[in-house]
Amino acid sequence: MSNQKIQHHEALIIGAGFSGLYQLYCLRDQLNLDAKIIEAADGVGGTWYWNRYPGARCDSESHTYCYYFNDEILKEWKWSERYPAQEEIQNYLNYCADKLSLKKDIYFNERICSCFWDEHKEIWSLTSESGKIYSSKFLITAVGCLSSTNKPEISQLSAFEGEIYYTGEWPHKKIEFRNKSVAVIGTGSSGIQAIPVIAEEAKQLFVLQRTPNFSVPARNHKLEESFHSEFISKIEMWREKMFDSRHGHPWKAPPRKLCETDERERSAILENNWEKGGLRFRESFDDIILDEYSNEIISEFIRKKIYEIVEDAETAKSLSPVDHPFGTKRPPIDTNYFETFNRNNVELINLKNSPIKSCDKNEIILEDGKKISVDILVFATGFDAMTGSLQKLGLIGKNGIRLEDFWRSGPQTYLGLAIPNFPNLFTITGPGSPSVLTNMPRSIEQHVDWITQFLRYLMNSNMTKVEAKAIDAENWTEYVTEIANKTLMPKAGHSWYLGANIPGKPRVFMPYANGLNNYRDECETVAAGGYTGFKISS
Ligand code: NAP
Repeated sequence: MSNQKIQHHEALIIGAGFSGLYQLYCLRDQLNLDAKIIEAADGVGGTWYWNRYPGARCDSESHTYCYYFNDEILKEWKWSERYPAQEEIQNYLNYCADKLSLKKDIYFNERICSCFWDEHKEIWSLTSESGKIYSSKFLITAVGCLSSTNKPEISQLSAFEGEIYYTGEWPHKKIEFRNKSVAVIGTGSSGIQAIPVIAEEAKQLFVLQRTPNFSVPARNHKLEESFHSEFISKIEMWREKMFDSRHGHPWKAPPRKLCETDERERSAILENNWEKGGLRFRESFDDIILDEYSNEIISEFIRKKIYEIVEDAETAKSLSPVDHPFGTKRPPIDTNYFETFNRNNVELINLKNSPIKSCDKNEIILEDGKKISVDILVFATGFDAMTGSLQKLGLIGKNGIRLEDFWRSGPQTYLGLAIPNFPNLFTITGPGSPSVLTNMPRSIEQHVDWITQFLRYLMNSNMTKVEAKAIDAENWTEYVTEIANKTLMPKAGHSWYLGANIPGKPRVFMPYANGLNNYRDECETVAAGGYTGFKISS
């Protein structure tokens, strides 16, 4: 063992995105704990630090995609557009971190690759890729749900001599698309945002689509000066609306079923909400993700829109999703996505007809022998979602048990917040919690508040060790699956919600699908009962 200095703190948080920053503030300024963040990047932002691809923008509305724990921040920060762009969110998080003096308590440029529970000392011992060692009594992961980039294996990719970029790890410099032929692989939310922006610049753009996706127009626009003053006069109303909803947005589906609404009325409702744009389109009726018939009607409504927008009928057909019900994969919202296929410099390549076979020095070669000559290859191929970034931490719990072994058949958590065999570890927005099905800052604040309240309870009762009970985690995980099975969500057989986008990953529906409002009540009941489901000791 080297005699290297170990940085010991009462609590360590991994990640300086939305969740890590708020957690640091709570532990340091509310509980007076000696707490630090360890962050791989050289700045704050988390997902918004890395995902700076062209067109990157949030799909939650800006006045809701922000912290609500501090009214001064809400009043001071003025959002400029309906949906905030990556740069604006990153500026916002820098502003928050500066305002709350958080940066002095962050170790930047340190990527943690191993976290080991030392049973004898009852502390977590962490090692970074640079070889530094940290330790702490409590460890909180704030690593995000969509942070571990999926880099699909493509034969002979290393022979490609052009530029290669991944939307999830975009370089911190302007990429020049002018006079270049570009291929984008992937038509999830990231691809759907990047494609229209790249198309405007590139000489030629090839969109390599494996599965077509539903997308709803975002209808983004600049916010009027009066928006902010009106918004801050009703902060409490917005807060209540968000926490009272399934998805953490300030709206919920009215109590009306599409299948019980006559054709004229439902068309009018859908048209009206399509014009308003954004994720609230999904909330036009309250049975969209529960009833196959209702879902087919809304799915067909979107397919018709695609046919109306896209001039070439064959391209429109290829862009029309038929393999999954609308809303069972995370619905992207877009600006001119389908319209982009009417441009002369854009060609849709349907990988369903002919998958990618390999690459050579300046081409992508398809199974049918077609060769696509490109200068730049953009992978918008998503993430090893929810579990990927946790598993990359190299977590080893009690009796040497590795997280990847414990989760071999799928993630097991209690409330999405704690894992049996991994004492004194909390996972903000972990699998088994609503997280990715919601407006993330609401789920994050709920988790951070709950963890903070739990740590306060432990401190007040002179307790130092806590661990989720195996039986409660088993029951919770089964319950999460049961809830998902009552919806149409598992019908998107290849979605990342199920882990199905990563070869070899167990197929388990990972997020809690019963709504943030209900989940919050369940967490409060656990706390009120003296943290049932946890072993607590001194
Ligand atoms: P994604 O939804 O997983 O989409 C990945 C795309 O890449 C899919 O079209 C997929 O096709 C394709 N793909 C994957 N591997 C491939 C391969 N080997 N060959 C060809 N195609 C391949 O990933 P994402 O677009 O990054 O979005 C992930 C999530 O991040 C979103 O659902 C959303 O929650 C979040 N996000 C949000 C925003 C926003 O707030 N606006 C923006 C970006 C991302 P298949 O469908 O056939 O697998």
